[in-house]
Amino acid sequence: MLRFAPSPTGDMHIGNLRVALFNHIMSKKRNEPLLLRIEDTDKERNIEGKETEILELLALFGIEHEEYQLQSNNLKFHRAMALQLLHDKKAFSCFCTPDTLDAKRDAAKEAKTAYRYDGTCENLHAEEVIDNMAPFTIRIKKPSHSISVHDIIKGESSFAPDDIDSFIIMRTDKYPTYNFACAVDDMLSDVSLIIRGEDHFSNTPKQIAIHQALGYDKKIEYAHLPIILNNEGKKMSKRDDASSVKWLLEEGYIPEAIMNYLILIGNKTPNEIFTLQNAISWFDLGTISKSPAHFDIDKLKFINREHLRMMDPKELSRYVGFADEEIGRLAKLFLDEAGTLKELRAKISAIFSPKTVPDEYKEGFDILRDLTLKAPHYDDYESYKAYLIQHSGFKGKNLFKPLRILIGGCEHGPEMGDLYEHLKNYLKEVVK
Ligand code: GLU
Repeated sequence: MLRFAPSPTGDMHIGNLRVALFNHIMSKKRNEPLLLRIEDTDKERNIEGKETEILELLALFGIEHEEYQLQSNNLKFHRAMALQLLHDKKAFSCFCTPDTLDAKRDAAKEAKTAYRYDGTCENLHAEEVIDNMAPFTIRIKKPSHSISVHDIIKGESSFAPDDIDSFIIMRTDKYPTYNFACAVDDMLSDVSLIIRGEDHFSNTPKQIAIHQALGYDKKIEYAHLPIILNNEGKKMSKRDDASSVKWLLEEGYIPEAIMNYLILIGNKTPNEIFTLQNAISWFDLGTISKSPAHFDIDKLKFINREHLRMMDPKELSRYVGFADEEIGRLAKLFLDEAGTLKELRAKISAIFSPKTVPDEYKEGFDILRDLTLKAPHYDDYESYKAYLIQHSGFKGKNLFKPLRILIGGCEHGPEMGDLYEHLKNYLKEVVK
């Protein structure tokens, strides 16, 4: 079982989508199911509606899941496992107040040493625990030995018991911490490979420590994906519009291109342009670079353009607001200038909208417009042009400048003959 475990706490970040995508690919490659687990345990940070948004986005990108869980429904298991650890004396109740802990943390800072839990509550007598009515957390005892993590991308690392520390697994409100909920759920779902963002790497030894304390010895594989940097070399954050999957879609980057790009960056791939289906055949977690990936919107636009070129004209036509493959073909003519659906829509809409004509061409424009409205249907551009020349007497730039605006919606663009080819059945509508 593989799993994708997003938190419904904000817009989906491209880093999350990349994690989802790699999980999808690996689940297909290994022929193992993918679990979608919505990590909604942190009630204060949950945002209403984000869960539905995650489901819709994954569906849009064709990332399927065979199993689905809301982490909050697993609370009974988290509590049962915490009880078991208490019972086995692998965890203990901790009555240290936040103020006390803060003071000790400050003192450690002052002394320039790393803060570690000092074991105050580790050996309380049962009576001291039972008689104490104060709120308490549950801490797991730090392991007695180092924990090694083998990561497919980052290689081997080892963590000393003090680095893992006796950390909190249940808060005073009886809800599990992220590490505990995550470790228990991964164990109960029999997860075999965990692919997630590098920001979770330091959690991994803690989660392994939880598994070991629970007597779970299945060897889980890990792959932590390096972060994605913006063009200033900083981690892509909410402040970068392009970090939001929703924003990219609204800007007219298509799912096929976004996926292609997220597989390409920080990776060695046999070619630059590919479909998800291609990628599933050659994808290898081992070729992902250890260094951060760099996000470059111009490169994404280049890839988007290539996918738009490959798109079925009928589908492209729907994306620009029509249901005729001829309009899809027309849109493709603009792909030298436009690189996104938004830019293409603007080009197509300019053709079908009232035109703004510079004064010098206004008269000519009106004459050509009237002639076109009265014209019979011509199957080819040359005949249409001959008709216009014959009736207007225009030639050279006096003909072409206003004609381009009339038919093409702008002063520069694709060849007139090509435009006409795809627009001839819409001519009266275009010039009306
Ligand atoms: N819920 C975590 C997040 O959205 C992911 C946890 C995990 O993959 O282990 O960052």
